[in-house]
Amino acid sequence: LRRFRAAMIGSGAWACAAVRMMAQNTLADDPADDFVDEIKMWVYEEDYEGRKLTEVINETHVNPKYFPGFDLGVNVKAVPSIVEAAADADLIVFCAPHQFMHNICKQLMGKVKPGASAISLTKGMRVRPEGPQLISQMVRRYLGIDCAVLMGANIATDIGREQLSEAVIGYDNFDAAEDFKKLFERPYFRVSLLPDPVGAEMCGTLKNIVALGAGIVDGLGLGPNSKATIIRQGLVEMRSFSKALYPSVRDDTFLESCGVGDLVATCYGGRNRLVAEAWTKAQLSDNPRTFEDLEAELLKGQKLQGVLTSNEVQEILKTRRWENNFPLFTTINRIINGYLPPKYVVDYVAGCKFEV
Ligand code: NAD
Ligand code: 13P
Repeated sequence: LRRFRAAMIGSGAWACAAVRMMAQNTLADDPADDFVDEIKMWVYEEDYEGRKLTEVINETHVNPKYFPGFDLGVNVKAVPSIVEAAADADLIVFCAPHQFMHNICKQLMGKVKPGASAISLTKGMRVRPEGPQLISQMVRRYLGIDCAVLMGANIATDIGREQLSEAVIGYDNFDAAEDFKKLFERPYFRVSLLPDPVGAEMCGTLKNIVALGAGIVDGLGLGPNSKATIIRQGLVEMRSFSKALYPSVRDDTFLESCGVGDLVATCYGGRNRLVAEAWTKAQLSDNPRTFEDLEAELLKGQKLQGVLTSNEVQEILKTRRWENNFPLFTTINRIINGYLPPKYVVDYVAGCKFEV
């Protein structure tokens, strides 16, 4: 009887909430006993109050820096070596901020089990001179293994509190997707399978830009009608941009948890919204602040993905001369880079026509 060994590559807030669900499942005494109990979790090593973070996690089963207050499970083993974490795994879960994923993939080249399957929980994309690359495409290309994606309205702390949430697994390989569904699904975490992995990953990536727009609206002190306008237009541009880059993307995907679900959750409760609101208030005050500064102060080591993603997507829009077709994305990008005042967020058509 073959039992799968799972690994988590990443140890931030969402990585910890996800590994906690995985650990609950691998430890459960289910009849099929599909999984090895132990899960190795790669932790980007750092000092925490004078000790190594991996040592603190292994002693307390809590990641006090990125996911305080939640027991990850006795069967989660924090390891500082990325190769050790992944080498013997059959199911490899990637959940690191997208800007670190290229380096992560390079370190794992030739080091994973042939025949292993991967899934990416990372929201973001890479933009190279030759064009965009999804994180799942990067994993496939560098490691030579299949890579699905798990995307949804999944704010980490709410999942740690075991509040009802849902997600989709976007897949090419159905069998691997079923294995991952068993690994993640909990009574409070509903997982469905979606045969549009590219659409799901594009949704997860692009909603972080729209969330900045929602935060700007909040920082301006505007109410729900204005925020709904940004969310609606954001969804329209997410769909148009995804289909312009990848024509196979399906319309229905935008009605799933990875689409409108995640967009609503992030525009009301996410970190991109939070930091963009604080940034906007600071812009309107006598004491403007930078996103980097506010990210460090408010997120305490957690990473903001929206600003990077907005700049990455804007590079694609500029290169392809698509800026006029994406007035909200373009206006948000101009606001966060200081070319337009925040109030233009609700006047995005004019903001897009403004010459930078
Ligand atoms: P996080 O932002 O909470 O934490 C940052 C992580 O980056 C830490 O684990 C830190 O150790 C690591 N790190 C710092 N420097 C590094 C380096 N040089 N190389 C590699 N790692 C480094 O992380 P997260 O919330 O788990 O986010 C991972 C992905 O999940 C992101 O793409 C995010 O958009 C997505 N996501 C997050 C949430 C959430 O609620 N936090 C929910 C859904 C999806
Ligand atoms: P933030 O990174 O804005 O917190 O979004 C979290 C998320 O992706 C929820 O699904």
